[in-house]
Amino acid sequence: MMKLTIPDYISSLKPYKPGKPLEELEREYGISDSIKLASNENPLGPSPRALAAIRDVLENLHRYPDGSGFKLKGKISEKFGVDSRQVVLGNGSDEIIGMLTRAFLQPGDEVILPAPSFLMYAILARSAGAVPVDVPLSAMSLDLDGMQDRITSKTRMIFICNPNNPTGTFITDRDFRKFLESIPQDLMVVADEAYIEFVRGSEAVSSIEYLKSGRRLVTLRTFSKAYGLAGLRIGFGVMPPEVADLLNRVRQPFNANSLAQAGALAALDDTDFFKKTLKLVHSGLDFLYRSLDKMGIEYFPSQANFFLVNVRRNADAVFEAMLKEGVIVRSMSEYGFPEFIRINVGLPAENDRFLQALAKVLG
Ligand code: PMP
Repeated sequence: MMKLTIPDYISSLKPYKPGKPLEELEREYGISDSIKLASNENPLGPSPRALAAIRDVLENLHRYPDGSGFKLKGKISEKFGVDSRQVVLGNGSDEIIGMLTRAFLQPGDEVILPAPSFLMYAILARSAGAVPVDVPLSAMSLDLDGMQDRITSKTRMIFICNPNNPTGTFITDRDFRKFLESIPQDLMVVADEAYIEFVRGSEAVSSIEYLKSGRRLVTLRTFSKAYGLAGLRIGFGVMPPEVADLLNRVRQPFNANSLAQAGALAALDDTDFFKKTLKLVHSGLDFLYRSLDKMGIEYFPSQANFFLVNVRRNADAVFEAMLKEGVIVRSMSEYGFPEFIRINVGLPAENDRFLQALAKVLG
């Protein structure tokens, strides 16, 4: 048989481990009625307007999608005040991270990452042969000064996760502006704002504002969280037109499928669903915090739809024990927090069920 020659940077990759799907858990453990709080999904379900729009386009599934994403990009550009040539659609925002690493990184290039943060940055940087440079969080927040200090002549890209997954911390506009001013102007900054819709308070300035003033910046957004469309796989990036032009060269021509384009377009107009989602997430967070306070369990308050709970014992074991109670959470051991679990806000009944299971598991 022919010997395969695989670059070391590919054979050494470890695949991303997603949160366990419900059906798989129920099959493995022989249980039913389990709940999943492990992947920061929207507990309300998909946006109803998105569902209706998807139903309307089912009849046309024999046609290829609009490879240019004309309508959806038009709507995004209108909503965010940018030109549609600055918008790139992705099969989830994950795919756009992959397009960025493929288009801009070469073996040996350095990519500065917060650690811990969303694991796909490192996986996709490595898959392009680049070298991830981890900058540990400081007090659970991105250490922007530390990130700046690690810039070398080999640095090609810096990832900012705002709010950060898994800590839920948010960078204020002031700090972000200072950071942008202090780094080389041509260095590419990727600001992943997958959870920005959930930030409370007036400090939630999107990096899109800096893009408008000419920065080489890519802002990533997703329909998987606040819009309830994780299974549809649709996200987008906003960036300078010349960056979009390069991504369009590495992009698969029909990467955003027709159902996803129709669903996302309708979801952007579904303000009722959006408001309901924010209300549910914020009241759910407050309820869970109050309840954990009463139980004497430490947690880390968050600006996203998820947060960390300090279980003060092996998080993998707690994850397993919670599974047996039919509650899927995420152990943070592979994020470097061996005694933390991460949960997202669920429906009120799911939040209750989580608290009961946790009380039982932690004794
Ligand atoms: N960025 C962050 C920070 C995330 O947590 C996630 C999903 N877990 C994504 C990006 C990817 O989202 P999607 O591909 O579903 O758009």
